[in-house]
Amino acid sequence: MATMSLHTRMLVGFVAGVGFGLAANVFAADAGWLDALVHYVADPIGQLFLRLLFMLVIPLVFSALVLGVVEIGDPKSLGRIGGKTLAWILIVTTIAVTIGLVVVNIIQPGRGLPPELGQSLIAQAGERGAQIAAGREAVSGISVLLNIVPRNPVQAAANGDLIAVMFFALVFGIAATVIRSEGTRAFVATVQGVYEICLKLIDWVIRLAPYAVAALLFSITAKLGFDVLVQLARFVATVLLALGIHFFVVFPVLLRVFGGMSPLAFFRGAQPALLTAFSTSSSSATLPTTLKVVEQGLGVPRRVARFVCTLGATANMNGTALFEGITVLFLAQFFGVELGLLQQALVLAMCILGGIGAAGVPGGSLPVIAMILALFGIPPEGIGLILGVDRLLDMCRTVVNVGGDMVGSVVIGRSEPAAEPSPVP
Ligand code: ASP
Repeated sequence: MATMSLHTRMLVGFVAGVGFGLAANVFAADAGWLDALVHYVADPIGQLFLRLLFMLVIPLVFSALVLGVVEIGDPKSLGRIGGKTLAWILIVTTIAVTIGLVVVNIIQPGRGLPPELGQSLIAQAGERGAQIAAGREAVSGISVLLNIVPRNPVQAAANGDLIAVMFFALVFGIAATVIRSEGTRAFVATVQGVYEICLKLIDWVIRLAPYAVAALLFSITAKLGFDVLVQLARFVATVLLALGIHFFVVFPVLLRVFGGMSPLAFFRGAQPALLTAFSTSSSSATLPTTLKVVEQGLGVPRRVARFVCTLGATANMNGTALFEGITVLFLAQFFGVELGLLQQALVLAMCILGGIGAAGVPGGSLPVIAMILALFGIPPEGIGLILGVDRLLDMCRTVVNVGGDMVGSVVIGRSEPAAEPSPVP
């Protein structure tokens, strides 16, 4: 197993977990040993993985958001282009998440299980089930808006109150940009160090994913049997459809209307970066190729390309934000958690920030999703369900992430008046 690539190991974990889980469901559904196996072996392994993901959320999201704001606000990094980039990120990510939410509401890929079953899965979480139920109350009513501002940021972090931590990180980043002293520069360098350490840790944690996939899928298929696979297939189809709409409809329209470029010329020129994104599942690893392609293949001025793509690799994640929205709603449907319009609007906001706060590495969005799920009273174990198919979805959403950076560079490059000539390839 050690010599296989990570995604092959994930697939092996998926097949093993599902295979043994289904066999247990069919042949040993009422056996006492199955309960013991799930309770004492499979669940703890899955929980360990989830805990490791949770552990990274606060430092990762805080550092990513502070750095994102500081880079946008740095006058050396061209204030005007910074403003346009920020507007681009917010508007296009909002479109992406909205597409995701509309599609998942229409298809309803998570429905089908009897609602009592979802409730009983939550109840089985025991003490955590109670916390989850409490979390659900916490995200209803006007308090949703007030709770964005933490009374105490340390307490918000300790409670895993992600949205309050995000708010704190945003205002912290803004203040650090405004002051610009020796001290704030040192602070930003430290935050950069925290961010890099988090990336390394994610890399290590993701290596445990194959075992977690096997364990989490074993538990869930042993309980639910074949039905769960049908829903998983519908989930994959929903994500691919929504990503496809954003990539093949929204991007071409934006290119034509605001970028003055034919979509065909764009896709031809952008191909090397899109293929790299697909094969690496990492916006950050694709960045050198993205920059080369945008400057040389698409003729975007270097200063625009550098700024938009570098920032975009960590902060502009259309595909990731869309995926987060669909995943949260899919798992809400799966576990029978009703999310009203106001709560879905909050999911939208969380996913926009979640796209900025996710790291541009394979599986970089998983910690953020785990946290958003907990916030909305959805069992984070649901992550185990999607992990087995995540590699393919990760490849596809990374293509959309990188594509969004390149389309943004073209549009912003065109809007810049006296752009320097781009280098000849
Ligand atoms: N792999 C994605 C990226 O690098 C992040 C994620 O959605 O997990 O763009």
